[in-house]
Amino acid sequence: MGNTEPDRDRQQQGKEDYGYGLFPEHQSGKARKGLLAESLFTFNHKCRLMLQVTLDTNPYAKLLIDAMKSSGCAIDKDRHFSCEDCDGTVSGGFDAEISQIVLCQNNIHQQKHMNRVVTHELIHTFDHCRAHVDWFHNIKHLACSEIRAANLSGECTFGNELLRFNFGLKEHHQKCVRERALRSILAVREVSKETATKAVDEVFDTCFNDLEPFGRIPHNKKDAKYAYREFQNRSRYYANI
Ligand SMILES: [Zn+2]
Repeated sequence: MGNTEPDRDRQQQGKEDYGYGLFPEHQSGKARKGLLAESLFTFNHKCRLMLQVTLDTNPYAKLLIDAMKSSGCAIDKDRHFSCEDCDGTVSGGFDAEISQIVLCQNNIHQQKHMNRVVTHELIHTFDHCRAHVDWFHNIKHLACSEIRAANLSGECTFGNELLRFNFGLKEHHQKCVRERALRSILAVREVSKETATKAVDEVFDTCFNDLEPFGRIPHNKKDAKYAYREFQNRSRYYANI
């Protein structure tokens, strides 16, 4: 009892507890009144609210979630999504090991951005659901899913009509998909640009033309809505057989 070790332990534990306070989800019943903790809580709360709006209203996300449900991969909001603080300018990620989408609450501030990130990551989740993707050892698998995510999430859609007028839309879209897929691979794997480029090039045509479950490139919400309606009709048709 006389030695000081337990005290030091307790002190260190106290410090670690404080660190945990930075992640509101892990907070225990003890409410923290610090201004920082409170603003982080607000970030987390806002992230969850925006996620809910995406899941309720965004046709891209709704279609992907319905398609996964039909394939036996029902998505549960609390189980498959996690709002967290992330390093740098990362917006989101898909943790294939536990099949969970991470949303970077400190970097996503607008609903449109949330819609895009959720859609992008849901495409990885969809690929994970329908095929045995070897995310960690086969860079071509990763490249394929990144191509599909960039192609189908609407992130390569030109918002600017003037730019659309000036450049060939199709050409821009393909270039954008290629670049974004490359950037995504380099962000998560320690490989050279040459290796990543080679992987993207090798699978590009096949994966760019794999439009499941949209059946088209959804360039905007209207396209995504049509795709969603078509998908619903498809399932209804199958259900009637
Ligand atoms: Zn990605």
